[in-house]
Amino acid sequence: MPANLVFLGPPGSGKGTYAARAAERLGVPTISTGEILRQAIRAGTPLGKEAQGFVENGKLVPDDVMGRALGERLAQPDCAPGFILDGYPRTLPQAELLDRALERRGTRVSLAVLVEATEALVLRRLGGRRTCPSCGAVYNIHTLPSKVEGVCDRCGAKTVIRDDDRPEPIKQRLRVNAEQSAPLAALYRDRGILRTVDGSAPLEDVVARIVMLANEVHA
Ligand code: AMP
Repeated sequence: MPANLVFLGPPGSGKGTYAARAAERLGVPTISTGEILRQAIRAGTPLGKEAQGFVENGKLVPDDVMGRALGERLAQPDCAPGFILDGYPRTLPQAELLDRALERRGTRVSLAVLVEATEALVLRRLGGRRTCPSCGAVYNIHTLPSKVEGVCDRCGAKTVIRDDDRPEPIKQRLRVNAEQSAPLAALYRDRGILRTVDGSAPLEDVVARIVMLANEVHA
C-alpha cells in the first residue's frame, strides 16, 4: 500500500517542517493545504478568492471548497507512491471525505502522526515564524533561522510574517484547533493507526522517528 500519511497537531507544532523533511526521506510529496490556499490567494484564482477571507482571519475554509482543491491535488501522478498531508483533515467531515477519495483509488490512510506541543511552545513558534512568499519555505528566528536574516535560503526572496501569524488570528486558529481538529486524533486512535511524536524534541530526532513509524507500517 502507498505511504498515505496525515499529520495532526496544533498550528505552530512544527508539523509542516517535519512533514516536509519526512516526505523527502520517504520519497513522497508533501501536500500542505495551507500552502495550496496561500498560493491560490497570491495568484488570485477562483479558489484563492473564495478562501482569502477565511485564511486571513484564521478560520477554516468550508469543507467543500477545501475538498475540491485536495481532490485535484491527490489526482496528480506524483501521489501514486503515497503522500504526506500537512493540515488536512482538520474536521471530521474532511476525514470522511478523504476516506472516500482514497477508497475510490483502492487505498486508505496508513498512518496518522500527531505532533504534540504545549501552548507555550506553539506561541513561541508562531511568533518566530518567517515564511517565503515566493517558494513557501518556512523558517523560525529562534529554532530554524535562514542563513541570511530575512532572506530565503532556497530562492533568495524576502521572508515575511504570515498575516495569520499575528496575535488575533493565532488565537482564533488555536480555538479552531481545540474545537474542530483535536477530535481527529480520537478517530485515528480508534483505528489503531495514530502515533504521537514530541514536537519539542530536536528536529532530526522527530524526523527519524516519523520515518521509522512509516517504515514499520509499510514493512
Ligand atoms: P496552515 O498553513 O495549515 O496553518 O493553514 C493556514 C490556513 O489555511 C488555516 O488557518 C485555514 O484558514 C486554511 N486551511 C488550511 N488547511 C485547511 C483545511 N484542511 N480546511 C480548512 N481550512 C484550511
